[in-house]
Amino acid sequence: MSKSVKTIFINNKWSESSNHDTINVVAPSTGASIGEISRGDKADIDLAVAAARQAFEGVWGNTAAADRGRLLSRLGLKIAEHAEELAQLEALDTGKAMKLARNDIAATARYFEYYGGAADKLHGDTIPFLNDYQVLIIREPRGVAGHIIPWNYPAQMFGRTIAAALAAGNTTVLKPAEEACLSIIRLTELAHEVGIPAGVLNVVTGNGDEAGAALSSHKDIDFLSFTGSPEVGTLIQKAAADNHVPCVLELGGKSPQIVFDDADIEKALPVIVGAIIQNTGQTCSAGSRVLIQRTIYEEFVTALAKRMNGVRVGSHDADLDCGPVISAVQRDRVNGFLDRAKADGIAVIGQGKLDPSAVSGGFYIKPTLLGPVDEEHELAQDEVFGPVLVAIPFDDEDDALRIANGTEFGLIAGIWTENGGRQMRLAKKLRVGQVYINGYGAGGGIELPFGGFKRSGHGREKGFEALKEYTVSKTIVINHK
Ligand code: ADP
Repeated sequence: MSKSVKTIFINNKWSESSNHDTINVVAPSTGASIGEISRGDKADIDLAVAAARQAFEGVWGNTAAADRGRLLSRLGLKIAEHAEELAQLEALDTGKAMKLARNDIAATARYFEYYGGAADKLHGDTIPFLNDYQVLIIREPRGVAGHIIPWNYPAQMFGRTIAAALAAGNTTVLKPAEEACLSIIRLTELAHEVGIPAGVLNVVTGNGDEAGAALSSHKDIDFLSFTGSPEVGTLIQKAAADNHVPCVLELGGKSPQIVFDDADIEKALPVIVGAIIQNTGQTCSAGSRVLIQRTIYEEFVTALAKRMNGVRVGSHDADLDCGPVISAVQRDRVNGFLDRAKADGIAVIGQGKLDPSAVSGGFYIKPTLLGPVDEEHELAQDEVFGPVLVAIPFDDEDDALRIANGTEFGLIAGIWTENGGRQMRLAKKLRVGQVYINGYGAGGGIELPFGGFKRSGHGREKGFEALKEYTVSKTIVINHK
């Protein structure tokens, strides 16, 4: 059954999968089919890894850092030129509201601008050693990097993971998520247009348990970057371990926002709602728990509920506060959490509204605030990956810290207090990769190192830290006596 769908990019050529099979692509806003992608598998991954290996040992390995950077910067400009087209594709494919899709594409361009500028600034070091010796520490690319990314921010993830890897001198094989990768296909065309050499960026669309598993278990990759669920993260890490391949894993979160009774409540409220409805809660760093000091609990949740009631949900092109979730599976999973919470007697205290553009075939969920939720309940422990916020009261600083650190996750946290000493005490004791004080950056800035503790993963992406992940140091000892 040949359908001539060519979404696999190897050695600068577009092709069908070797099995000629395809995967249907659905628009979350309507549930309707909007196209197909190639169902790549092990045979395609083998070709992609071989192409990346050849480019690493050849053209890319011989390209000066400044020239790599120039190509990446050029791609950043190209993405900015095509921003509206890319944003429309991203919104259609993921269901996210147009304004968020536009932000995402601007961020994607910025990743290439940032890492394009950084490519020739990753300096080495020298170390004082014995007399008559000179010691140099140089940073070398890891080699062929495999990238497996999720569907929630396809374009941004492409920028975050590919720009950093290429800037550091690696070649890449990317397996995007089967649920949403149309923007990545277009971004890859743009990368080709600006002159990224053959074999440097290879993309194999396909299913996780086929193409993804083939990439993560491949014997000829040197590094793996994975963003996705903790469950798949475990599989990836096991596959990497079998081949002794180092990896960076960015997994889920159950990130707390901690509100003390001296907080600037008016400043906190919109940020707290924004951090759970952004991308309809489908953000690893979503602020999905709000911990509220008991003295202001009632007052605060009442104001929060009022804001949640004002949130409007509709199709991506209606451009409201929230779009649909990615799929029927995801919708049913989130509704499962809400149904079990109801059965457990947990009160819904605020809920957004569906707009008429939220047609019945789409995967819509009303953003929901529930509370008070016991800190051990699944809603307070598990990642829902939907627009569900749980309110949890606490007594004092120690209690807040205990609850905040009391999940298996540790990605980011927000602290809302005017007390400077408390800000720093908590920031140092929270077991998370990013702490925001009197603010919250779900998704965060490109310049800011990002990653987890515990079940949220390990390694860091974004900022200069990512360049360190994508390189390895080499010590050169020169005896000049
Ligand atoms: P999510 O819950 O966000 O869908 P997943 O962890 O399921 O996250 O998916 C993230 C990425 O991992 C996707 O590109 C998916 O195709 C891929 N993936 C899923 N299962 C596997 C697997 N067994 N091996 C490798 N990659 C996988």
